[in-house]
Amino acid sequence: MTGWLAIAGLGPGDDRLVTPEVTEALAQATDVVGYIPYVARITPRPGLTLHPSDNRVELDRACAALTMAAEGKRVVVVSSGDPGVFAMASAVFEALEDRPDRQSLDIRVLPGITAMLAAAAHAGAPLGHDFCCINLSDNLKPWEIIETRLRHAAKADFAMAFYNPRSASRPEGFARALDIFREECGPDRLITFARAVTTPEERITTVTLGEASPDMADMRTVVILGNSATKRVGRWVYSPRRAG
Ligand code: SAH
Repeated sequence: MTGWLAIAGLGPGDDRLVTPEVTEALAQATDVVGYIPYVARITPRPGLTLHPSDNRVELDRACAALTMAAEGKRVVVVSSGDPGVFAMASAVFEALEDRPDRQSLDIRVLPGITAMLAAAAHAGAPLGHDFCCINLSDNLKPWEIIETRLRHAAKADFAMAFYNPRSASRPEGFARALDIFREECGPDRLITFARAVTTPEERITTVTLGEASPDMADMRTVVILGNSATKRVGRWVYSPRRAG
């Protein structure tokens, strides 16, 4: 049996947003590896072994997946959204750096719909002009880097999407981010909080920075800050394609 490894994105939540390519890989898989809530989205079947693991062991999980593929298994590593956006694809390539003997394995990255794009679609088109995307978690990078990037992106008038805005273990980070945005962009700038997008609990709220408060975001929220031209139309929010 020839083993392979697919690093797949399951999309933001709604099963209809899992791509046919990912569905096909899962149908052929012998093993599925990933963070517990993502593996829970896979329907068990005979011949398929599920390997749910904790969030903090990304590199171990990547090494284990590579080992199984080298042994001849057909392995799918699952992430939510897209596997290349703050997710497992980088961890697999990092694990591969130390193992030249594994670099000839059949490895594919299967894209998915990332949370930011699903949120933008349901809000209207807030990312219709230039934008950037920043992970607000300071687990893997110091807060000073995050703050520098936020200020530079605001000065460049990018719309911005923020992942991992707020966790119970560091509630103060997002409050500081909001202070920076108010300083750089003023109180009238639009900001959208998109929670649990494409799931039955979806909630999308757009307010001004003056009205925004840290408790509007949690770890199931992706936050989109408009650029200086972003505006409301009816119940939507959009960024015109001509700006600057
Ligand atoms: N690889 C994922 C991101 C993983 S980081 C992707 O491409 O979407 C986890 C963060 O993604 C969460 O803290 C939240 O900010 C965001 N996120 C994931 N799914 C979401 C959803 N359905 N609705 C809103 N935000 C979501």
